[in-house]
Amino acid sequence: MRKPFIAANWKMHKTVEDAVKFVEEVQHRLPSEDVLTCGIAAHFLALYPMVQKTKGINLGVIAQNSYGEFSGPYTGEVSPRALAAAGVQYVMCGHIERRTLFHEDNTMVAKKVAAVLQCGMTPIICTDETMVQQEFNGEVHYVFAQLMDVLSEVSFDQVKNIIISYEPSWAVGVGQHANPTLAEEGCRLIRRSIADTYSYEVADKIRILYGGSVNPENIQLIMSKRDIDGVLIGRASLDADNFLTMVDRV
Ligand code: PEP
Repeated sequence: MRKPFIAANWKMHKTVEDAVKFVEEVQHRLPSEDVLTCGIAAHFLALYPMVQKTKGINLGVIAQNSYGEFSGPYTGEVSPRALAAAGVQYVMCGHIERRTLFHEDNTMVAKKVAAVLQCGMTPIICTDETMVQQEFNGEVHYVFAQLMDVLSEVSFDQVKNIIISYEPSWAVGVGQHANPTLAEEGCRLIRRSIADTYSYEVADKIRILYGGSVNPENIQLIMSKRDIDGVLIGRASLDADNFLTMVDRV
């Protein structure tokens, strides 16, 4: 059984004070870790205060990005080693906004994923839908070329420690109603790609989230889909009551 995961992506919203206040508002109203994993992706400044504030509660702290090296002359970047030492548990790698606005390519994202794993954190690998059809022995397989490039430095032993978030470009940040059937189809094909590349056992264990215009109205239908193990939520996660409503509906 794959445990569901609900993650908020706050992007560049909220001050440190706002972030801490949010944790105070939700901390006594979260479900047990046994049934659901909850997490918040905040900007770098808010991460350390959030790690302090979330001790003992079911709210993992997620960085929205990190660099692919551990230290060195990389002005303005943040090392995964520093994040791990600060108590951060997860790092988002390759979010579509990083790719389109900051020109991150698969090689850069692959280095980030490898570095995050080496530091003992869990990468949440975001992928949009660059899927290609390939034929093997007369059978058509759908291959997520982008995802497979990003996993190029991830060994068989490490792959069970990743989380994937399927975030099609037509659905992220547009506020349109997400299409649960298409969302599940993307997640199912990603799982099949993982099975083809690694193994069925691994593919069966990996959590695959869906991200793109999830909100309190559509979350139940999205989460009812067999191949969707959780959600990454942007806009609708900023308000504490909205977030809790969605947690209740997972
Ligand atoms: C995101 O930024 O990862 C996201 C899913 O955003 P939204 O929910 O606003 O579409």
